[in-house]
Amino acid sequence: MEFVNVVAIAPSDDDVRERLRVDAQAARMRAHYEGWDERLTRLLGYSDDRVVAWALNHQTPFPAWHHGHVALLGDACHTMLPYFSQGASQAIEDELVLAEQVAKAVRGELTVADALAGYSDRRAAHAGVVQTGALNNRALFHLPDGPEQRRRDGAFREHHRESDVSFDWIYDGTPLEDDPVPQAT
Ligand SMILES: Cc1cc2nc3c(=O)[nH]c(=O)nc-3n(C[C@H](O)[C@H](O)[C@H](O)COP(=O)(O)OP(=O)(O)OC[C@H]3O[C@@H](n4cnc5c(N)ncnc54)[C@H](O)[C@@H]3O)c2cc1C
Repeated sequence: MEFVNVVAIAPSDDDVRERLRVDAQAARMRAHYEGWDERLTRLLGYSDDRVVAWALNHQTPFPAWHHGHVALLGDACHTMLPYFSQGASQAIEDELVLAEQVAKAVRGELTVADALAGYSDRRAAHAGVVQTGALNNRALFHLPDGPEQRRRDGAFREHHRESDVSFDWIYDGTPLEDDPVPQAT
């Protein structure tokens, strides 16, 4: 294996907060994980100085992603924290639903404006729940050591739901009306 891409999360500093994306020092990143499990620190120890620090921002969900003949998709309308690893996945779902809605306009079933309004209706609430769930997971994942953290770890061990948004809800089913993938029976 030539490359391993590792995403590690640590408290930010003003430089990252202001510039959003900066070149960072691997040693500083590793210092955040001193004393952690040896398997993790060994993995981080392989990193050279090609480390990039990104600021993490939560965006409050908003309900309408369209205006007339213009619609947004992806991070432009639902920037989310990474605690569900769903940013790109939600963008792909947007794209599929948008294609389905635009096809209705091409077939003359809807005006372009109504097709885009339908796209926004089908996607905005869903992505908003994932955004809020990711925000809630931030608190859950960063609990300090103590009784709440032990309760959380126990729930993880028993494979209980991680947060108020279940993984089943996120990963099951399809966002499409006309699902081209045959469902397993
Ligand atoms: C470190 C990291 C790890 C991640 N891990 C995951 C993961 O595991 N799972 C997951 O689902 N998501 C993950 N994400 C989130 C995911 O990368 C984003 O949610 C996703 O890329 C959003 O796609 P997008 O097309 O909306 O925006 P982008 O991918 O940001 O695409 C926007 C594009 O527009 C271009 N652009 C900007 N301005 C202009 C302009 N004026 N003219 C022309 N082009 C322009 C940009 O260069 C860029 O190519 C991760 C993100 C990061 C930073």
